[in-house]
Amino acid sequence: MVSLTKILDSKAATNDTLLNAQVVRCPHCEQTYRLEYGEGEGRHLSAWLKKADTAIRKSHKRDNHKMEKLKLR
Ligand SMILES: [Zn+2]
Repeated sequence: MVSLTKILDSKAATNDTLLNAQVVRCPHCEQTYRLEYGEGEGRHLSAWLKKADTAIRKSHKRDNHKMEKLKLR
């Protein structure tokens, strides 16, 4: 299970060293998201990061990151 959640407090993102989580930034603005993934998903991380990037770009275009959670598939 992989989830992508909008980070509302950007300060929290800087010292986010949680296991199995990665901070991803929108390439078009300052909005950041936390990508969280389960134990078994770590080795597919680069694929998930690509999907996360795509979802974030779409979210930026569609409604300027209104959605708090983005679906990844
Ligand atoms: Zn954006």
